[in-house]
Amino acid sequence: MKLRLHVVVDPMGWFCISTVFFIWFYNTLFIPKLVLIPHFNEGHIPWALVICYYLASFLCVTALLRASTADPGRLHQDPNIPHSEREQWELCNKCNLMRPKRSHHCSKCGHCVRRMDHHCPWINNCVGEDNHWLFLQLCFYTQVLSLFTLALDFCHYYYFQQLGIMDQEEFSVRHELALLRISCFMGLVMFGGMSSLFYTQLTGILTDTTTIEKMSYFSNDAGPKRPWQQTLAEVFGTRWKILWFLPFRSRQPLGPLHSYRSHV
Ligand SMILES: [Zn+2]
Ligand SMILES: [Zn+2]
Repeated sequence: MKLRLHVVVDPMGWFCISTVFFIWFYNTLFIPKLVLIPHFNEGHIPWALVICYYLASFLCVTALLRASTADPGRLHQDPNIPHSEREQWELCNKCNLMRPKRSHHCSKCGHCVRRMDHHCPWINNCVGEDNHWLFLQLCFYTQVLSLFTLALDFCHYYYFQQLGIMDQEEFSVRHELALLRISCFMGLVMFGGMSSLFYTQLTGILTDTTTIEKMSYFSNDAGPKRPWQQTLAEVFGTRWKILWFLPFRSRQPLGPLHSYRSHV
């Protein structure tokens, strides 16, 4: 697996991604300490639920790390443009490089990105042809993890039996109510925000329209409508649906089809 790290130097982006990491870290530290492990130890919840929580947390942070450090689709200095495609390429007047149509120049990253969707400060990276699948996974796993956290917070109060012996001197136990309220607040914000983002990203992918194109009222009515399985297979770089959910793999462009093919 060829891993090329891509780091954007932007203090505002670093602040935003640190906030996202903090929210993930908070929920991965306090929810198991306050709810998951104590209720598991007292036999209120099964071990499978504990594993599912840690798995959702692991997949969420892996998707975040990979989406923020993956190359979004940067253009090579000297691209090999197929003769039949010459008319589909244009010159970027900012970096003076040839690029395929639907590429955009990102002022934050300082280069052009193939089929750029938008620059996301929350991952401090562009979302483009090569990391759109990771961004979609991130939206999905953030929803799963925040919904899981909200459900555990709720069950801790209204459903699970009271915990027996707990060390009342422990910081997290003394501040249990405040910590769980913060967790609920962050869970609601993340779940609400990520659900709407996931929906807009998915509809954008299925209608083959990027966020930039939507904002410029571009209408993509070129070509017939394609099945959703084919569209998503091209975005994720595989026809194996199970692999659409795994962030630890590399994406391979699928055949010389449509705008997702690798142009360089
Ligand atoms: Zn450019
Ligand atoms: Zn960018």
